[in-house]
This record gives sequence, structure tokens and C-alpha cells, in this order.
Amino acid sequence: MTGITQNKVLLAISAHPDDIEFAAGGTMFNFKKLGYDIYFIVATNGENGFKIDHKPRSVRVKTRHNEQLKAAKILGVKKVFFLNYRDCYLKYDDNLREQIALIIKKVKPEIIFSFDPANKSFESINLLHRDHRVIAEAAFDAVFAARNRYLLPGEAHSVKKLWFFGCDKPNHYENITSNINNKIKLIEAHRSQFSDHKSMNDWVKTHLSQYTKKYKYSEKFRIVTVTQPFVKEGV
Ligand SMILES: [Zn+2]
Repeated sequence: MTGITQNKVLLAISAHPDDIEFAAGGTMFNFKKLGYDIYFIVATNGENGFKIDHKPRSVRVKTRHNEQLKAAKILGVKKVFFLNYRDCYLKYDDNLREQIALIIKKVKPEIIFSFDPANKSFESINLLHRDHRVIAEAAFDAVFAARNRYLLPGEAHSVKKLWFFGCDKPNHYENITSNINNKIKLIEAHRSQFSDHKSMNDWVKTHLSQYTKKYKYSEKFRIVTVTQPFVKEGV
């Protein structure tokens, strides 16, 4: 665990319900233990990632919202900001960037978690999903917009660290060995995403045991420290 400083608030920004849990669920529990307040932004409704049965769109949207709220409750998230975009159609535009920046200004996170905008490997159609790529860039740009005092209303806010998940060049492995079962509970809240518990559990554990030999289970990140040369803090 690194990067313990001033206001203990983190904001995790995802494209779909379940992204944060799969990529950083164990790490969320580590930060919770350190006393951080946790907020989520979920950009799309995730209605097209529904994997059990065939249900009308309205039911799929409601189910995925409820699953996200259930996982958030298990973790003790302060608030989930649903942006309600259509799944698989997320577009980068000024509105998306502004929505995220205004939430940053509101909750004033020290740390942002999101997909890594630098990962352009296109090695996986799931990881490099269009919505993941879009939210990665919008979240990154929103950090700049929130820090600038002229772009948007409200007091400027400077985020200190960016913890990117879904990265292909990690510089940090977070030890989540003691939280692996808690992470699995978070994932299990997203029941519409899998029909077979056991194979999902096995897949998660196998995956997370392979990142580094240092820990039994870990999550991987590319951590970036946000700096603005030649400018004093608070100016
Ligand atoms: Zn996703």
C-alpha cells in the first residue's frame, strides 16, 4: 500500500457495474481499512452485459443498478453516481468529461481509480472494450478539468494520485491476499454476470495468483502521481 496523505477520499470511475469489483475490489477493502471514504461513478447501465436469461431492457438496467448498489453496500461505498449511459455506446464528449469533473469537485478525492488510458494493446476484446477506453480518457481529462479554476463552476480540486487498472504496464501490485474472499463477495453481488459460481471463483483466484510471485493474490495498477510544475498548491 502506498500513497497515504491528506483527505482520505477515493473515487473509482468505471464504465459498467462490476468493473471496479473485478479490477480493484480487494484494493478497495485495503483503502477502506485505512479509513478512506469511497465513491463510485458508473457511466453506463451495463444492460448489454447481461448473461443470464433473456430479459427486457428495463429489467436488465434495473437489475444491474441493484447489483451495483448491493456490492457498494458490502464495501461501504458512500455513494454511487450512476451516469446512465447506454451500454456499449459510451462516447467521449465534453458532457461526459464535465460530469466526471463536477463529481471530482464535489467529493474532492485524493485518489482516482479508473481504466488505464495508456493501455492500447488491444489484446483483449473484453478489457479493451470501447466503453473502457472511453471512460479511461474521460476520467483522465476530468482530473485536469477539475483542477482548473476557469473551466467549470465551483472550487478547483487537485487529485494527487491516479491508480489505473486494466493496465499492461503495471508499476504496483497490491497485496489482496487477506481480502480475496471479500472481493469475491463483491463480484458475487453481480449475479447477472455469471451463472456458475464455482467457475467464476476459480477463474478470479487463478487470475489474481499469477500477477506476481510476491503475494498469493494481488491486483495490479499503474500509479501516476499528478504534478503541476511551477505552480504552488492552492494557487
Ligand atoms: Zn466493463
